[in-house]
Amino acid sequence: MNHDFREELKTLGLKATPRRLAILQALAGSSIYLSAEEVWAKVKEGSREAGLPTIYRNLEELAAGGLLSKVLHPDRKLYYYLCQNKGHHHHFVCIACRRVEDIGTCALDAISREIRETFRGKVLSHTFQVEGLCEDCCHKEEIKDR
Ligand SMILES: [Zn+2]
Ligand SMILES: [Zn+2]
Ligand SMILES: [Zn+2]
Repeated sequence: MNHDFREELKTLGLKATPRRLAILQALAGSSIYLSAEEVWAKVKEGSREAGLPTIYRNLEELAAGGLLSKVLHPDRKLYYYLCQNKGHHHHFVCIACRRVEDIGTCALDAISREIRETFRGKVLSHTFQVEGLCEDCCHKEEIKDR
C-alpha cells in the first residue's frame, strides 16, 4: 500500500518526516490495530532508528490530528489504527483478533438533544468506540464453551 500521506500531514501542519511517514505506512499496511511497540518494531525494520518514547510521541501527535484512531482496550494498553474512511463514523473493535469494523450509525443527534435539554450545554466533539468479539471470534468462543 503506497498511499501518500504528505498532503495529509501538511494540512495538519506537521512536517512529513521519514519517521512519521514510516509510522503511517506501517499502520496503513495493517488490517488490525497495533500497539506502540508493534509500530516501533515495524519502523525499526527501516533504516532509521528511533526510541519507543519518540514513537509514542509521534503516534499521539498523529492521533491528536485525527490521522489515527486510538483504540481503548480492556488490557489497558494503547493501540492505534489507521482508517481510510474519512467520513464521520465509529469503530467496533474485536478485543480478541483486533479486527476493526466501521459503524455508520452515530447517536449524536439524540445525545446532543439530551445535553441541550438536560444540561443546557452544547456538544463540541465526541468519541465513541464499541468493544466486543467479531463473528469469527464468537464462533471460537462457542467451540470453547461446548
Ligand atoms: Zn475477532
Ligand atoms: Zn473506520
Ligand atoms: Zn459520531
